[in-house]
Amino acid sequence: IFDDFTIKTLIRPVNDFPKPGVVFRDITPLFQSPRALRMVIDSLIQRYVEADFSHVGAMDARGFLIGSILAYELNKPLVLFRKQGKLPADVLSQGYQTEYGEAFLEAHADSLCEGDKVLIVDDLIATGGTLLAAVQLIKRMGAGIHEAAAIIDLPELGGSRRLQDMGIPTYSLTAFA
Ligand code: 5GP
Repeated sequence: IFDDFTIKTLIRPVNDFPKPGVVFRDITPLFQSPRALRMVIDSLIQRYVEADFSHVGAMDARGFLIGSILAYELNKPLVLFRKQGKLPADVLSQGYQTEYGEAFLEAHADSLCEGDKVLIVDDLIATGGTLLAAVQLIKRMGAGIHEAAAIIDLPELGGSRRLQDMGIPTYSLTAFA
């Protein structure tokens, strides 16, 4: 049912965004295709429907798009990992390096407890900085990580390797060299 060619065709390469030399993988065409979005979500549902985890953790902002559908379909609580200054209540904040500079990722301090096990999701893994910051926040709340899932991996940027080296399994539906 999963057609890698169709999915790849609906991920648009945009040269020199957000800065010169970067090829940005634009997923908006994929979201404009109901058939492709269903293929993406159904594949993830199939992988995680019987998996042993307690929460879906979604990365700001494109991770929210798939994370919220997965949380709904798998009937799990959804935890938001947001860019700095967006969450209103008490937060934990974690600094990290992005592909493009330094940033902070935040979660509500009361969003997870010891013993919780989180499936973390984003649209794309590049350097892994975002997901690794989420891993740190989850660990600071005493919780654990089931797996890191993304639509796209860019293995040459080393993120999935860095996550695996930290003991975090990673899963992606497709990859670009
Ligand atoms: P990382 O933290 O792994 O270096 O970068 C991944 C994060 O940056 C994700 O939250 C992702 O949404 C965003 N990102 C970085 N590069 C791209 C890209 O080429 N395409 C898309 N769609 N997102 C990207």
